[in-house]
Amino acid sequence: QMEKGQLSRDTFMKEIAAMTEHIVKKAKEYDRDTVPGDYATLQTPCPNCGGVVKENYRRYTCTGKPGAEPCGFSFGKSPAGRTFEVAEAESLLATKHIGPLEGFRSKAGWPFTAEIVIKHDEETNNWKLEFDFGDDKNADTGEIVDFSQQDTVGPCPVCGAPVFEHGSNYVCEKAVPTVAQPTPSCTFKTGKIILQQPVEREQIEKLLATGKTDLLDKFVSMRTRRAFKAFLVWNKDEGKVTFEFAPREGGSKFPPRKTFSKAAPAKKVAAKKSAAAKTPAAKKAAAPKAPRKPGAGLKPSEALAAVIGAEPVARTEVIKKLWDYIKANGLQDATNKRAINADAKLKPVFGKDQVTMFELAGIVGKHLSA
Ligand SMILES: [Zn+2]
Ligand SMILES: [Zn+2]
Repeated sequence: QMEKGQLSRDTFMKEIAAMTEHIVKKAKEYDRDTVPGDYATLQTPCPNCGGVVKENYRRYTCTGKPGAEPCGFSFGKSPAGRTFEVAEAESLLATKHIGPLEGFRSKAGWPFTAEIVIKHDEETNNWKLEFDFGDDKNADTGEIVDFSQQDTVGPCPVCGAPVFEHGSNYVCEKAVPTVAQPTPSCTFKTGKIILQQPVEREQIEKLLATGKTDLLDKFVSMRTRRAFKAFLVWNKDEGKVTFEFAPREGGSKFPPRKTFSKAAPAKKVAAKKSAAAKTPAAKKAAAPKAPRKPGAGLKPSEALAAVIGAEPVARTEVIKKLWDYIKANGLQDATNKRAINADAKLKPVFGKDQVTMFELAGIVGKHLSA
């Protein structure tokens, strides 16, 4: 009896010791996570081999199961300039998906929001990290998006088709697969949150109608972590939504000079604001006629006038008219829907036989004058 009691007591003590060791080890690991130069061991296993995934200088890398070789799975710690928290990396491995996360930056330096997925790659027979933008996902799966229950936010500045809310973005109807057009032909998309600034629907309505939002004051710079104010503007040259900084903000580090110099005086903005606010329903039609709106009343060149008429028009309206003309005359290339074949009238405008739809906005710019 005594022996038996002694034995169970030994077992009990051993268990206590093992448990204590485990707790101490855990505590040490926890400590290490916060010590510079020491790296985390993720609590979630490698999606490929079930091995242990550890952080190193630049990546989270599979170190293999105990006694086994690493399988080669790894992913960068800071994709597109945004560093994963350890908990985020674990969540990503656990669910193979995380986000949408804010604070990524494109190669050109513009902020974006995206979801990240871990996908199995047939070629390498391993898993890899990928950005997952809502509409790309739809393009991949061929999932058709239905906007029929939504009111449009306004016309796409690239192609004139209606823009709708979609996931974490505002997108051109033609930038996602729809019943009417399963293969997207446009790329216009802008985030609902940009550098922590929520971009309300009414601001996008304004941007699409006038080319510019109100002055928004809740942007937070990824670099300096400081809040800043800016307008969001449709940048026709770059073909995307970019910042325009308020004149007096020019002294701070953040605003790049080239966009700063384009900033409009505050008074003009106020005038435009009230004009746009008064006529939300008539915006589309009013755009080319309202003289105070930027981009309105531009004079088409002779070549362009031959296609859309000589009346002064807003830039967005020009693209829409051009697009109508292209459609009406069947000039969209049959094999490559993104290419437009010039007819006799369009050739002097394009300066060549064929252009892509992405060049359109730039070309139009050359044929408009104030
Ligand atoms: Zn592995
Ligand atoms: Zn579009």
